[in-house]
Amino acid sequence: MCGVLGILGNYPLTMARGLLLLLAHRGQDASGLLWVVGNEATSSKSIGNPDRIFVPEIASSQILGSTRYPTTGKRVASEEDLDTFVGPFNVGDLSLTHNGNITNMHSISNLKFDCDTEFIAVKLTQNLTENNGNLPSAFSALQSEVDGAFSLVGVYRGKLFAYRDSHGFKPLVFGRSKQKTIVASESTVLDMAGVPLERDVYPGELLIFGDGGTMESYSISQSLTHSHCFFEYVYFAHPAATLENQLVYDVRFRLGRVLAQTFLKMNLERPDYVVPVPDTSRPAAQAMAETLSVPMREIILKNRYLGRTFIVRSQEERDAMARSKYLYLDDKIRGKIILVVDDSIVRGTTAKMIVADLKKRGAAKVYFAVTCPPQTHPCYYGIDISTDTELIASTTEIEAIAEYIEADALIYQEEHTLSNAIGLKDLCLACLNGEYPTEHARRIREELQEQGASSIERDYERDFSK
Ligand code: AMP
Repeated sequence: MCGVLGILGNYPLTMARGLLLLLAHRGQDASGLLWVVGNEATSSKSIGNPDRIFVPEIASSQILGSTRYPTTGKRVASEEDLDTFVGPFNVGDLSLTHNGNITNMHSISNLKFDCDTEFIAVKLTQNLTENNGNLPSAFSALQSEVDGAFSLVGVYRGKLFAYRDSHGFKPLVFGRSKQKTIVASESTVLDMAGVPLERDVYPGELLIFGDGGTMESYSISQSLTHSHCFFEYVYFAHPAATLENQLVYDVRFRLGRVLAQTFLKMNLERPDYVVPVPDTSRPAAQAMAETLSVPMREIILKNRYLGRTFIVRSQEERDAMARSKYLYLDDKIRGKIILVVDDSIVRGTTAKMIVADLKKRGAAKVYFAVTCPPQTHPCYYGIDISTDTELIASTTEIEAIAEYIEADALIYQEEHTLSNAIGLKDLCLACLNGEYPTEHARRIREELQEQGASSIERDYERDFSK
């Protein structure tokens, strides 16, 4: 998961940086801006959130931005890493950045790439050279070779372009006003810039924007089924974003409403409070509280200056970071039955810690409700859950997970209620049911299974061509 931004039309760089901040939740490892003046592309990148990017007080008419969440390569730790891993990248006349994961990067190229955005930039440049600078032909060649998820935005010879892979895994929307065109991972960026949302880029569609709001649309590749990542709605996207005509807030609210029905069927003792794990699960907790007629209380508070802590590599570090993430309103807990709502359980670290913290503070009972069904399979398309070993639900039954996290009950969303709540038929649910929509990802899965896949290596970084 990453955030991408593209602007065509004179715009101050400091304001572009402000827009990029609206995508900070999509990647807090590092961020970058690139702008073109004359024919020259300049970039500025920083570890952490976009507010740390230094930009001069000028405007540019072609700007790209990127927030990075590392799902290939390593976490950024130095200036050198910024150059190697963080978009936007520039190669000759072409600059681009992307969100998603290419699954077959190592098997289709003899060159070694540290990062898949760089791989796409180099591949696309080759394709452009072979096709006399024709973007649609270059993208046709790219899409026919590359397997995986990629929503990308770039500039080429004064034009802004946007492309979404034929499955449409990752979001990408655009809008135009008289003065400017904006492409972004989420519609909130357009709202902030005062540009009306026009629509999502269609899966397999290439859009080329020129001055004065001109737009050409090319259907590069058509897949019969689209595979929008359901986890965007559950966790990644901002609740104020509209993706595929669905307001993410509304989806999360509906997820809570159906989860409340599942809770009722379990005939558990009535809770005193519904309590969200901040921030993602707030709308779902609100809906559960309303449906169950139980008050919602925010007794778990987040240390908001701590970034997303998921991507630390050792369990010890993860435990320590998880502990510093939340504060509790102690006097609201003693003797109470508490229904906690979170968006997902991955390793179980957060759930186990929260249940223990509430019980330590005297909670009579703790029920744990999860708006996402059990994630039993790794994702190869850019959620950082790439190995079986880091998914507790891949090896453990629900009752045993409840025992592990020491909850008095564990209430999981079901796959069909999830799909209904999102309101789209064309979803990628591979991490729930193992049905990978692309061929190379299926091959990765099969080969890993043959090898007895329990490695903690990031699966998609292995070279399966050997
Ligand atoms: P865990 O503690 O390993 O069970 O992870 C679950 C917590 O991490 C939940 O509170 C989620 O909000 C959050 N989470 C789930 N998936 C991701 C992800 N891919 N990246 C970052 N955070 C995540």
